[in-house]
Order: sequence, then C-alpha cells, then structure tokens
Amino acid sequence: MNKNLEERIEAFAKLLYKSRYPVFFTGAGLSTESGLPDFRGPDGVWTRRDKGLAPRPMSKPWNSVEPNSGHLAIVELQKIGKLRFLISQNVDNLHLKSGIQPELLAELHGNITKLRCTRCGKTIDQSAGKTICQCGGTLTSSVVNFGQPLPERDLYLSFEHSGKSDLFVVVGSSLVVTPAADMPREALRSGAKLVIINQGETPLDRYAHLRFSEKIGEVLPKVVQRVKILMSLE
Ligand SMILES: [Zn+2]
Repeated sequence: MNKNLEERIEAFAKLLYKSRYPVFFTGAGLSTESGLPDFRGPDGVWTRRDKGLAPRPMSKPWNSVEPNSGHLAIVELQKIGKLRFLISQNVDNLHLKSGIQPELLAELHGNITKLRCTRCGKTIDQSAGKTICQCGGTLTSSVVNFGQPLPERDLYLSFEHSGKSDLFVVVGSSLVVTPAADMPREALRSGAKLVIINQGETPLDRYAHLRFSEKIGEVLPKVVQRVKILMSLE
C-alpha cells in the first residue's frame, strides 16, 4: 500500500498487462482535472442545490471543456485492447468526446449533451433539436438528478461487466453513492483485483490491491505507457 509511486505504477501496469477483462470506473475526480466543478464536493452543483443555491458560474462553457490526460490514457487502453468496459458517473460527455466507443460505455448519471426518451429509454443528441422520440415518447434531459432512478441499460451493463472483470480500476470516485459503489464490490466478489486512484478516502480502500492518492494525470498516462512497453516485448 505504501510502496513508492514508481513501484506502484509498475505493479499496476503488470496487473493491467495480465488482465483479460479490465473494467474502469470513473467519477468526478477525473473531470475536476479538466477544470469542471465537482458535483458532490463541498461546493459542487448538487451540494449547492440542496442548500438552495444556484450552481457556481462555469469558468468556461461546457462544450469548450476538453478531455485531460486521464481521459486520453483510457482511450489509449481502448486502442490496445485493454478496456473491456467503462462505467462513468460523469455527465460531462468527455469520455465520448475523447473517443471512447459508445458500446463500451455506461453513463450512470446521464450525459449533459443528450436527451433520453421517457418511454423507450433511447438517448439522442440534444443538438438534433427533437422533443419527441421515434416511438412517440417524450424526450427530456438524460441527466439523472439526485434520488431519480439510474438508466436501466447502463445499470444492467455495469453490473454485468463488473461481475466479469478480473481487474477493476476506480478513477476519481470516492465510492459513496450507491448503487455505483456496489460495482467494485461485485467485481471483488467475482475475484477481480481492485485498483483505486482517488484523492481522498473511499470505503473500499482496505480491499484495494493498489491504492493511489496522487493526481490521475500523474498515474494513468505513465501506467499506459508502461503497459505498451510490456506488450511490445511479447
Ligand atoms: Zn422512445
């Protein structure tokens, strides 16, 4: 647990290199490294709303926010076949913007750029300007507000892939919101190894095979680089 960073990066790279079913799980901590407000932090959008406060004005418009080195590292893993599935609590569209294939992604809390049909559950881009789905149902914001049910397809796929994973990697989530926080438990029950990268404690820290409290951008890109080297030596 307290091994130095270089050793932990090397150990993580070896786990990923050997893994046949790596599943990644991302939360607000990944987005904050792109300059987005943390939704559930002390000054987060939801925390402020619970106090009856308006969200803090964004320093820049949503669509000008770009994926960071952590997002790009996950895309690299997709390219080299080391990403079986990605579960995200983030609504900022940065995973899709960075090039993650939609079929490999579950967005548990929706996506700010997408509308969801209240009847059939299909999502479409907000930019299409539609209000009615092909099925006749009404299209509304796909973003899941606190207390609302999570989208069925995303939830189902997340549990399915968690149960199949042999390596489950948490990136920037404090794992306190259920049912999302149950996914790493599901993976552990199925015998997966658990790696957690998060600044701040999580309830699953003691089950983690490797634990990083460093910034995501200081860990993931180096791990991916190392995995590529291991693969090139085959
Ligand atoms: Zn529909």
